[in-house]
Amino acid sequence: MTRLEHLTPRRIVAVLVVLALCAATAAASWALGRSTSGSVGPVGSAPAGRVLSPALTPDLTTNVAYQQALVAAPSGKPKVTVIGTGGTIAGVATNRGSFTNYRAGQIPIADLVDDLRPEIDAVADVETIQFGNKGSGGYTIAEFHALTLAVDNALKTSDGVVVTSGTDTMEEFAYWLDLTVRSPKPVVMTGAMRPTAAGTVDGPGVIGADGPANLYNAITLAGSRVTTCFGTVLMLGDEFHAARDVTKTSSYRMDTFQTRELGVLGWVDGSNIKVGRAPARVATCDNPQRWATPFDLSKIAPTAIPRTEIVYGYQQAGGEAITGFADAGVKGIVTAGTGAGGLSGAQGTARTAAVAKGVVFVSTTRTGSGSVYGGATGSVIAGDDLLPQKARLLLMLSLAYAQGDVDQVRTWVTTIGNPEWDTLAGSAGTPPGQLKPAA
Ligand code: ASP
Repeated sequence: MTRLEHLTPRRIVAVLVVLALCAATAAASWALGRSTSGSVGPVGSAPAGRVLSPALTPDLTTNVAYQQALVAAPSGKPKVTVIGTGGTIAGVATNRGSFTNYRAGQIPIADLVDDLRPEIDAVADVETIQFGNKGSGGYTIAEFHALTLAVDNALKTSDGVVVTSGTDTMEEFAYWLDLTVRSPKPVVMTGAMRPTAAGTVDGPGVIGADGPANLYNAITLAGSRVTTCFGTVLMLGDEFHAARDVTKTSSYRMDTFQTRELGVLGWVDGSNIKVGRAPARVATCDNPQRWATPFDLSKIAPTAIPRTEIVYGYQQAGGEAITGFADAGVKGIVTAGTGAGGLSGAQGTARTAAVAKGVVFVSTTRTGSGSVYGGATGSVIAGDDLLPQKARLLLMLSLAYAQGDVDQVRTWVTTIGNPEWDTLAGSAGTPPGQLKPAA
């Protein structure tokens, strides 16, 4: 048996979990354990009452990436900017018991933060920006472009940013920011499954509204700096998830956000923030050029981002959707196929014709989890376990920056879209436990 054959998926996952925990440990240790003198303090010296998980030990602060990032980590009460975009958290219900009958995007974000005072003032110095106030599904890619610039601008002076949005497409907000924000400082998405106020924007609170607690915890998490270099995380119901992996699984349940195969990154229990694992990109924390993606939105206009769509696979699906998109000038199509990416015969024929017209495809699965693997050449790229709606965002950004180079698009989908640890010592010129370099 070769070395590669020893690495069954189960073993790779086991190694990955250990490495990720090490990285998370280091991240949390330097973020929380920094003493006021600027040296790496013991875990017990965590500022602002934060308590580390007992599983996190300080010895891993020898990790080079985190030692270097530590130099830039501030201490003391953090400054957090909350950027409001609307959604149910800013929603006004018809009465206090009306959980499903409400108008989203009504309450200004400044009011939502004011309702957390005075308690939130002990956690962080909070300022607000009203980016928009509407349902999440109403945002365009041009507005996403502007949101990224707003987040990066806020992070020039703030220690962390919280973005509130509707939950319907929050995972897309989160992954977009994950792919495009340049700063490694914490970015936390949050929102609510129940509207906040009844009757009017300053009316009484809806019974059991989750928005205030979610916003409070999101500010706490962003201010803790624990998720520095994690990219964007999504926090609802006391749990935080990686933007790439999380998905909304229920239209109404309060615990709608799940990371199906990998689980949560961590959780917020009062002032206790626990980190169970970390996204693989934390391994490049010491190298801003590698940590940030090539998708620097300050360098391109929103109009440079091409139309990219999603087509669903099902029994005897027609090929007209693919043909129609191709004829309309769509440059990229993600297929959410059956099982490991299957398409109907008609869809397959339409895809071949669209490829001939220059359309680039990413093949994903409609199952909600599991991988699609595929060839190393051509214009049909395997999306691995990226969810279709996430693959679409990555494909449109890749098409915008690759400028016709399909091999480059494939490389980005494979590396940035599917980050992996190099578990074979030095096999690809990287030491074991390092993230494979994104080409
Ligand atoms: N329709 C709302 C939205 O996505 C739902 C929510 O906020 O949870 O804006």
